[in-house]
Amino acid sequence: MVENLDPFQISQEQLFNACKISECVSDVYKVLNEPERFVEVKLIMKMDDGSLKTFKGFRSQYNSARGPMKGGIRWHPDESPSLIKALSALMTWKCACVDIPLGGAKGGIIVDSKELSNRELESLARTYIRQLADIIGPNIDIPAPDVYTNPQIMAYMLDEYEKIMRKHVPSVITGKPLPLGGSAGRMIATAKGGAFCIREAAKEIGLNLNGAKVAIQGFGNAGSWTSKILTQDFNCKIIALSDSKGGVYNENGIDPYKAKDQKAKTSTVLGLKDTQEITNEELLELECDILIPAALENVIMRSNAKKINCKIVAELANGPTTPEGDKILFNNEIYVIPDFLCNAGGVTVSYLEMVQGYYRYFWPEEKVLKTLDRIMTKAFHAAINKAKEYNTHNRMGAYIIAIDRVITAMKLRGWI
Ligand code: NAD
Repeated sequence: MVENLDPFQISQEQLFNACKISECVSDVYKVLNEPERFVEVKLIMKMDDGSLKTFKGFRSQYNSARGPMKGGIRWHPDESPSLIKALSALMTWKCACVDIPLGGAKGGIIVDSKELSNRELESLARTYIRQLADIIGPNIDIPAPDVYTNPQIMAYMLDEYEKIMRKHVPSVITGKPLPLGGSAGRMIATAKGGAFCIREAAKEIGLNLNGAKVAIQGFGNAGSWTSKILTQDFNCKIIALSDSKGGVYNENGIDPYKAKDQKAKTSTVLGLKDTQEITNEELLELECDILIPAALENVIMRSNAKKINCKIVAELANGPTTPEGDKILFNNEIYVIPDFLCNAGGVTVSYLEMVQGYYRYFWPEEKVLKTLDRIMTKAFHAAINKAKEYNTHNRMGAYIIAIDRVITAMKLRGWI
């Protein structure tokens, strides 16, 4: 039988399993298994050559019981309603899992942004915000950068929203550039949050991080910062790295700074001096202490999960392991730090950016990262203790905590 890889169906299956384990009544599953609102918009653009083009944009607002909804905006040719809905669900569980007072959302545009000029990118950002201005806002839904969007795109979006509202509203968007109210530490937040989780997981299983062998799939924002932080803070040894073109391996260790230079010069890690070329599939199956999927969804599944040969899987990417893959990792006693816990550092610092934006008073990076450490460490132990209590895997532990918090908020509001 072919494994089901539809992102939203996987997300619904995970929610269903968590509801079953925590004995939530089926009515609760029915309330939580679809977004509160899903909007599709048509974006009409005048291109530089004078032609007209239309793009499809989406926003999925999953659940607002715990607070205004929060989630990034992805620009990708493969964007789909199913993926956006799944990621908006994940954002709901992520914010609840780290206990920040926000709900979950996600947005996207089907576009290959590499084909657009800077003027066209700006115009697309502004058009998207004009179409959605009525349903976003600091007390409704707060977008942020995600795949192929960045602080500059957020700056255009902020400006467009403020023009429509005719006032400053800095907390409508996070991931802004620092001069427009961004937070110190935001660039490294996802990687730092993941590193805090890895530190705690290593204590749990008695793994010495000094010299621990690490393989990272995906050398973008999340993966590249993680390679530097694990090397600097814990003296881990990065033995393999990859990007969309393939991977590189050296059992004696790879210098992440040299890999970054190589990627900046040639746009790939391939060809890095003193490394051997490997495929992305081979990277996942390397013998190592910590495996970090930091690229795509559905890379650890039924077909390869039994070949995963590490002690910890730290999921920096969203949705890298399928439910079938999960079962195999659990049976093989591989310690999984689930995505919506492991990569929650980004949204946590986005929340701190909102807090600073409200005060118009900005903290030094040290204070931001110390607060992040406190929030992530507490969330990590809450999730794994719940998993132990229910004798289930860590993902279910994190789900049970998150769902319980969302249900409590809905009950208090009288929704259920
Ligand atoms: P990015 O675009 O900066 O980097 C993605 C990396 O993955 C690139 O190096 C790219 O070459 C590589 N890649 C693409 N296709 C690949 C393939 N087929 N095989 C191997 N590598 C491939 O993105 P990012 O921001 O680092 O995000 C990576 C993952 O982390 C995504 O799942 C994202 O949702 C998740 N995430 C990121 C953040 C964040 O703050 N950056 C926060 C939460 C979750």
